Amino acid sequence: MSQAELAAVHTDLTAMYDKLKAAGLKLDLTRGKPAPDQLDLSNALLALPGEGDYRAADGTDTRNYGGLAGLPEIRAIFGDLLGIDPAQLYAQNNSSLEIMHRLITLAWIHGTVDGERPWSAEPTVKFLCPAPGYDRHFAITQELGIEMIVVPINPDGPDMTVVKELVANDPAIKGLWAVPKFSNPTGAVYSEEVTRELATMPTAAPDFRIFWDNAYAVHPLEGDAPSDPDILGFAAQAGHANRPYVLASTSKITFAGAGVSFLGASAENLAWYGKHVGLTSIGPDKVNQLRHARFFGDADGVRAHMRRHRDLLAPKFSRVLEILEERLSEAKVASWSDPKGGYFISLDVLDGTAKRTIALAKEAGIALTAAGATFPLGEDPHDRNIRLAPSFPGIEELETAMDGVATCVLLASAEKLMQQ
Ligand code: PMP
Repeated sequence: MSQAELAAVHTDLTAMYDKLKAAGLKLDLTRGKPAPDQLDLSNALLALPGEGDYRAADGTDTRNYGGLAGLPEIRAIFGDLLGIDPAQLYAQNNSSLEIMHRLITLAWIHGTVDGERPWSAEPTVKFLCPAPGYDRHFAITQELGIEMIVVPINPDGPDMTVVKELVANDPAIKGLWAVPKFSNPTGAVYSEEVTRELATMPTAAPDFRIFWDNAYAVHPLEGDAPSDPDILGFAAQAGHANRPYVLASTSKITFAGAGVSFLGASAENLAWYGKHVGLTSIGPDKVNQLRHARFFGDADGVRAHMRRHRDLLAPKFSRVLEILEERLSEAKVASWSDPKGGYFISLDVLDGTAKRTIALAKEAGIALTAAGATFPLGEDPHDRNIRLAPSFPGIEELETAMDGVATCVLLASAEKLMQQ
């Protein structure tokens, strides 16, 4: 485009944007929360297990203290779904994020089972952060002053050439954040090959840990979710049994605020975790675990339930993708992910325009996840990534919001191009 053509486009877009602002919208695409109709799918839980039903299959009275590892029946269902032996899977309270935070702070204070000293006594601790990634992961490592190293992420997982080189040579690198399936936000699905490499690669740190946060393990947008590569098995065979911590939860299966979370790990890691956690709790909420076990019945019950979520979510994702295509493909100022599951669409705009796009949207009453949130310290080196969360709004609101976002992307791009 010539400068004159660009100026004309800019004028048209400014008029369009002024109209958008005048509409006085108040829309929110920030967080990947289940919508109310998704929560309704699990309303039967509100009446379960029901008066008089409180004994687990092994006779445990779920109303009482105890049972730190969680109820065997819920561990069996999720062990089946995650491909983990229930003996290696603890069921805990509602937040897997809390387990992750605890695993890191325990390593910080006491050291891991195969570390030489507490992480806090190391001169430096570093984590690899495939990014764009999950802001709450990065916030945990930031809180402890852990140095975060950005690693590029591909559709099949992090760039393994970069990862292998870094971990082989730097003993300060103690961990890696991973969302292995339908990743937040790019939708990446770690391949079996990448999983095997992560589990088996040589690392300079004796207690290198992979935080394998399988938050979207059973959350497809098409068909059923694929099964998971056996990271615990690969690591154990290679002599690194303690390397992976597998996390999952029912937060986006039943009630986000009242679910069950899971930790899959080696026997040694689980004993270590249990020893420390046993000081803070005499056992998790087993009534809730029993309620969940009754609600699902078995792993197929969970799969059937996730098809119902899929049927509510998939039209929203399709609509967002259609609007992006209709409004942005011709201008060639953006690219976006086409996830097969999970909760997010990752939108990349022209370098240097994400902040401006998000600010324009905010001024027009459309809240987007903060610029930079998908990178450690909130700093997107290219200022280009925007995380879209289509799950919560109704479809009409979503259409209005996305159309507005597209206008903001185009206006921010025109402004940028005019400066060049
Ligand atoms: N991990 C990832 C990758 C997530 O996207 C989320 C929710 N946004 C969580 C963990 C939170 O899980 P929980 O509710 O079990 O703490």
